[in-house]
Amino acid sequence: MRVLKFGGTSLANAERFDTVADIVVNNQRQSQVALVLSAPARVTNHLVAVVEQTIRGLEAAPVLKEIEQIFHGIIDGLKGKYAVLDDATLKVTVERELNQLTRLLQGVSLLQQCPDNIQARILSRGEALSIAVMSELLRARDEQVEVISPQEMLLGEGSVLEAQVNIEVSRQRFADKGLRDDCVYLMPGFTAGNEKGETVILGRNGSDYSAAVLAACVGAECCEIWTDVDGVYNCDPRLVPDAKLLRQLSYKEAMELSYFGAKVLHPKTIAPIAQFHIPCLIKNTGNPQGEGSLIGPECSDDDLQVKGISDLAGMTMINISGPGMKGMVGMAGRLFSCISRAGASIVLITQSSSEYSVSFCIHTYDKQKVQKAIASEFALEFKNNLLEPLDVLDDLAIISLVGDRMRTARGVSARFFNSLAEASINIVAIAQGSSERSISAVIRKEKVTEAIKACHQNFFSSRQFIDVFLVGCGGVGGALLEQIRRQQPVLEAQDIGIRVVGIANSRQMLLDKNGINLNDWRDRLAQAQESFSLERVTRLVEDSHLINPVLVDCTTSEQIADQYADFLAAGFHVVTPNKKANTASLDYYRELRRSARSTRRKFLYETNVGAGLPVIENLQNLIRAGDKLRAFGGILSGSLSYIFGKLDEGMSFAEATRIARENGFTEPDPRDDLNGMDVARKLLILAREAGMELNLDDIEVEQALPPGFDAGGDIESFMARLPEADAWFAQKAAEAGEGRVLRYVGAIENGQCKVAIRAVDGDDPLFKVKDGENALAFYTQYYQPIPLVLRGYGAGADVTAAGVFADLLRTHNWKQEI
Ligand code: ADP
Ligand code: ASP
Ligand code: MG
Repeated sequence: MRVLKFGGTSLANAERFDTVADIVVNNQRQSQVALVLSAPARVTNHLVAVVEQTIRGLEAAPVLKEIEQIFHGIIDGLKGKYAVLDDATLKVTVERELNQLTRLLQGVSLLQQCPDNIQARILSRGEALSIAVMSELLRARDEQVEVISPQEMLLGEGSVLEAQVNIEVSRQRFADKGLRDDCVYLMPGFTAGNEKGETVILGRNGSDYSAAVLAACVGAECCEIWTDVDGVYNCDPRLVPDAKLLRQLSYKEAMELSYFGAKVLHPKTIAPIAQFHIPCLIKNTGNPQGEGSLIGPECSDDDLQVKGISDLAGMTMINISGPGMKGMVGMAGRLFSCISRAGASIVLITQSSSEYSVSFCIHTYDKQKVQKAIASEFALEFKNNLLEPLDVLDDLAIISLVGDRMRTARGVSARFFNSLAEASINIVAIAQGSSERSISAVIRKEKVTEAIKACHQNFFSSRQFIDVFLVGCGGVGGALLEQIRRQQPVLEAQDIGIRVVGIANSRQMLLDKNGINLNDWRDRLAQAQESFSLERVTRLVEDSHLINPVLVDCTTSEQIADQYADFLAAGFHVVTPNKKANTASLDYYRELRRSARSTRRKFLYETNVGAGLPVIENLQNLIRAGDKLRAFGGILSGSLSYIFGKLDEGMSFAEATRIARENGFTEPDPRDDLNGMDVARKLLILAREAGMELNLDDIEVEQALPPGFDAGGDIESFMARLPEADAWFAQKAAEAGEGRVLRYVGAIENGQCKVAIRAVDGDDPLFKVKDGENALAFYTQYYQPIPLVLRGYGAGADVTAAGVFADLLRTHNWKQEI
């Protein structure tokens, strides 16, 4: 015989009932079937709700009406297909059950409480009606059916609402009764009977357990749990869309996964089938051809160390501590015994090695019971200050990794905790089962989805996501979006998913948690109603559970730069070509780095100096390796590189500036280049990287104009005045002498930073640098007398965007361990 159990979602409507009947009829042809059914979806929830509402003095009738409608819908639907179906009798049965419920609830209403045995009777009615409907349906399809009464056959012990089935006694009852082999047996799930034959229930979701118990009692060859997913996945497929189906897992793995929250199986299901070595198959009612997951004595021969990740919400952690805990023999024993006597189960325990405190997790619904039990057990200790008041933390969840092979693996916990840290998740407590088959971390419940996603990504998936919020979509930002658009398929093929989830300019912001289509972002941005704010962006990250959000700031705004610390604190990486943050006060400069370190987020600004040239990272690496910057000289401005290069060729300063402006090499107002402040900012950034504690006003800046030159007025009048500077530049060139040229140089020498026009000779690495090229010569302890020189185009939207793109890819920890 095979036991087939169908859950509530498999029985949600007439069509599904009929599908279940199809599966049963097909199976019955191969070998005899015993069927265990849950209540149709939502029915038990309604029954739970109606009890609570009645206790609170609310009307039961509307909820009962809903239950009636669910069953009438099913019966009418089936009658439509099977004319022979005895719908009238079925409806009478429904009415009888509802009348009885009404009577029971009247009692509850009078008492204003619901005794457990009454609650068990009420909650079990959904299953009873499922069986009534299915019996009639199978009869209508010419099957012989016989109903097993769980009240008579399964002996339930312990709590009335969370009973355990005594397998030995129940097995004997089945042996005594003897079973036919020419009919389909049906048994309502979720239910058993106490020694007096009164209804007890097996705990929410307990029909899985009923099936396992029945399988054990009749010595079934297989126990099949039919549900709404293809089998057991390595984590909840509702949370992680690319969760992987597990073809095979051991009883112990399944037990641990369900104990720590994998809802697909009730935690009590495995013990009876493991005891009698009955294989258990999890299958999808909506996909009967699928292979499903097989739970048996062996785990599969794949070599997965971590089989699955599960989550259990609704946890409360209690910490009991005080001098009385230390070394007092039996404290822990008393603590756990009093909780067990109160009928609450402890899900997880951690103890500090000092023995000064014990923390444990319970289901939040048991909190009051447990607090009361501890208060009375340790009344004396609390009174004498041997114990401190209980520390109670609500709204927690447990995330667990499960796998038989974890025992022999190294580094699993490190990777687990790293995954949580990467997702900015704070760990409240940690526990490892002594079997080493599971490791658990207690976290805040609102972070569960992020935690599962991050762990799944690190343990099972080679696919990585980067979620980009871009602010500033002008030259560099626009070029970046275009580069991302072009590269998306290429990166996709390498399992790197870059999604641009936000694009903002100074007025509007466009958000799309699934990734903005980069072919028409301009139009959609123009229609956007929102504007950029940290709050709005953070809300999207939280609501969509993004685990690797990156703020990309392609503005030159000081106001945005001032928010980086907040973004880092909120869990964003920050990538930017904007120099304002790194040239703000030293305090803010340090705060950004502190914030990035503490939230384990990256603050990347390679394009602050030399655009796409690999300047910052090289300098950082040198300094980290112990090198020291002795001196530096660099051409750090593309426009000034162009203008001064033209002077060597005999062009006048005014002419060179005009051509540079016309070609778009300068800022719209060339004074923004000529005043030297942009070069000064870059020089300050380099100096700070080299460890110099300077501010912008410590940099000596000589503008790239004659001293006292009138730089006022509008752009055009300034440009018209420029030829007045030509003579001064010509004289400077003459003074430089033969074989030397003028360059606008940012220099660090003897702890001083200076930006000025310099005459350099043919031996200087900056001598040949012109036409908009940048060059940086680092004279360090290791690189001397010949400096380390970096040269190349250091401006332009495309090269800068490419540098930002490279930083973006560096936000992820690509280390995929084996
Ligand atoms: P039924 O009504 O058939 O008893 P349940 O809702 O109790 O179904 O259990 C099935 C659900 O369990 C699935 O829809 C799925 O969302 C959830 N689930 C949680 N963790 C897992 C997991 N690791 N593998 C498969 N399903 C899981
Ligand atoms: N109907 C019960 C519940 O919803 C039992 C089950 O479906 O397994 O908890
Ligand atoms: Mg279930």
